[in-house]
Amino acid sequence: MIKIDAHLGATALNRRDFLIASAGTAAAFAMSGFPGSAHAAGTIVLPALPYAENALEPVITANMIGFHYGKHHKGYVDNLNKLIAGTEYADLPLEKIITSASGLLDKTAIFNNAAQIWNHTFYWNSMSPKGGGEPPAALKQRIDASFGSVDACKKELAGAAVSQFGSGWAWLVLDGDKLKVVKTSNADTPLTMGVKPLLTVDVWEHAYYLEYQNRRADYVNAVLDKLINWQFAAQNIG
Ligand code: MN
Repeated sequence: MIKIDAHLGATALNRRDFLIASAGTAAAFAMSGFPGSAHAAGTIVLPALPYAENALEPVITANMIGFHYGKHHKGYVDNLNKLIAGTEYADLPLEKIITSASGLLDKTAIFNNAAQIWNHTFYWNSMSPKGGGEPPAALKQRIDASFGSVDACKKELAGAAVSQFGSGWAWLVLDGDKLKVVKTSNADTPLTMGVKPLLTVDVWEHAYYLEYQNRRADYVNAVLDKLINWQFAAQNIG
């Protein structure tokens, strides 16, 4: 699915060409507008939020985003930049760091921080102040074909999100021609699983505990009903 190998040679290119090659990676993901691989001058950059910190209220409050984006997401970026400084990972795009470090026992910290950066950027883009409602027609057709209905799809996503034991993520992914719901633990990401991520919901306690405490299901259902960004999923299918 991901044409990572096609641009491995990018490390031999100069920086300008490398950045262009990185942009090509994003295109290969078919994530127009998704800044998951933003980096400059040898460092990974925390991508800007796609909306104001209070734009998702009342479901996700500015206070929640202040900590989640401003502390947790930024923390992963700061940690990763320290971990990769002076290493063979320093000049790689984020997606390549994730796929290169995946499964390597001595690179667990690099993988965890890199994947958490990517997952969180994907999460912010998976929500919109104008989210919820009906998916675009072409996506709705695919959802109907794979799940029977949009409600059934949301129910399966909610089930995965609520039943994930401990920290992790629920995802809508494209697996071949079929849409599927998967869940991952901790920093694990569909990027390493041969499927294309379309949407995600963060179910780490830090994602909801400030306002929802132990009511994970309330948080998940509110996100799916009011904020989920079907347009982003449609863009990711390409
Ligand atoms: Mn999180």
